[in-house]
Amino acid sequence: MTLRHVRALECTLCGATYDPTEVVYTCPEHDGVAGILDVVYDYDEIVDRFDAPLDGRIDSQWKYRAFLPVADDADPVTLGEGGTDLLEAPRLSAALGVETLVKNDGTNPTGCFKDRATSVAATKARELGRKVVTCASTGNAAASLAGYAARAGLDARIFVPGDAPEGKLVQPLVYGADVLAVEGSYDEAYDLSLEVTDEYGWYNRNAAINPFQIEGKRTVGHELAEQTREAVPDWIVFSMGDGCTIAGCWKGFAEFHELGFVEDTPKMLGVQATGASAIHDAFHADDADELAETVADSIEVGRPRNTLKACRALEESGGTAVTVSDGEILAAETLLGRLEGIYAEPAGAAPIAGIRTARERGIVGPDETVVAVVTGTGLKDTASAREATDGVTRIEPALAEVSSRYDVGETAVADGGEDTFPRTDGPEAGTR
Ligand SMILES: [Zn+2]
Repeated sequence: MTLRHVRALECTLCGATYDPTEVVYTCPEHDGVAGILDVVYDYDEIVDRFDAPLDGRIDSQWKYRAFLPVADDADPVTLGEGGTDLLEAPRLSAALGVETLVKNDGTNPTGCFKDRATSVAATKARELGRKVVTCASTGNAAASLAGYAARAGLDARIFVPGDAPEGKLVQPLVYGADVLAVEGSYDEAYDLSLEVTDEYGWYNRNAAINPFQIEGKRTVGHELAEQTREAVPDWIVFSMGDGCTIAGCWKGFAEFHELGFVEDTPKMLGVQATGASAIHDAFHADDADELAETVADSIEVGRPRNTLKACRALEESGGTAVTVSDGEILAAETLLGRLEGIYAEPAGAAPIAGIRTARERGIVGPDETVVAVVTGTGLKDTASAREATDGVTRIEPALAEVSSRYDVGETAVADGGEDTFPRTDGPEAGTR
């Protein structure tokens, strides 16, 4: 196993460095899993190998293989993840009052951004000769890991909180995983997965402790840098749960800037739900509590494992963090669907709500450009979305039923200009 382009694993807390083959998860100098490691690269080595043209044509994230911490002879476990579209969104832009583009990562193979990281993790697991992979997940990572485990011929045993949306529990079952629904919170499911990793030696995909995981997430930053080379956006917006996604994107974009592939860097805007705002609170030096209750289950995290990396990304990029209510998140979900035909899960729509808030507060100016990253499809969680819609109109199979509702000769003219964005009185999340 050769990793010539990986120089070391460096502890984000104490700065100690390790050989990449020496430590699997976190820095042994600290209790528990506090010492999250960062992968440090030899960029001369990477540039030597990276010869793909930055022409905006991206078949999958493995275009950036030279940047990924896998061995030279590794056989990637892939379903074609990454290479997602960056879409112009004129009607959404008009509604938000700022030019907005949407990076639609809900089109990844299992419907979620996490496939970028899972592809790397499954490749690493196979490289290390592991037969069983595990993770704790609010749902998306579980489904993603199960899918890639199936692809790689590995067994997946995953821990999810008992109240995860049905669609997210069924998907990993179809992929043949053992799904262990923990009667407790995500944080409790997470702690259990760590105990199991110690006890059984299963390969743990959890992004916060697995230093190679987040490295796959960098490819969204590489892609955005490549896709916006002509005009780097002022802001890139992500929702934040554990915090590694926004940190991964920043690392990738900043690398391309350092290497001179792109002339500028964006500011990162992190969005959290008011009911699960630990990273936002830490960034603004508020007292954080461990409350985690939001309709956006993918970011329903009370104790984020990567607060430090996320805060560094916000700080280094000159960005900031905002919070939005569940009502605003659900309103953003239907707004994005109605105006642009993009169906996001609540956590994937939260950036849209965050942009509105940041515009209102003057954080984002009217002449700036913003990229919202939609991290997951809405199809896995239709129950929460239903609350934000008017529901289905049931009719008898008779023409009269239609003519009582619509005039003949009426021409449908699409017009998004009338769409409003409820500030605080959007539909509130019910109990789930
Ligand atoms: Zn350390």
